[in-house]
Amino acid sequence: MDMKSDDPDRFFRPGQISRDGFLGTDRRAVREIVREDGETLKRIGLSTEAVADILQSLIDAAKQGLEGPVDAGDWIVRLDWARGLVPCPFGERRLQPKITLEAVRKGSGETILFSQLSVHLIREHGFFGGAGSVFRIEPESAAAWIRGI
Ligand SMILES: [Zn+2]
Repeated sequence: MDMKSDDPDRFFRPGQISRDGFLGTDRRAVREIVREDGETLKRIGLSTEAVADILQSLIDAAKQGLEGPVDAGDWIVRLDWARGLVPCPFGERRLQPKITLEAVRKGSGETILFSQLSVHLIREHGFFGGAGSVFRIEPESAAAWIRGI
């Protein structure tokens, strides 16, 4: 018997869809991570759509720069577009382009890294990444960007 198939979060682990996986150092199940971030969003009055929209707007701005840095309002953004497509770890049959974005917030110097898949994961699944994962977006940080604080 394949033990791995008993693991509902197997596609989130390192070496399955992404080299580093989606969970970082988080030991919680994916559904727990989604549930807790959902509670945080509710508490701070923010929707997954609002977070996905701001991240998508940074990707759209960065696309103007052909992989060079682009001034995008509060941010300097830079895009990396690799060949190929990547599946969603939640398992539906829909592929995302391999776009990675680095964004540095002017003033604070706060730097975030996320992907086109991150935007999908947040918008469609409410999944912001495991704690300690490189691509995690903190709902509280997103609230501060959106509210300009
Ligand atoms: Zn998905």
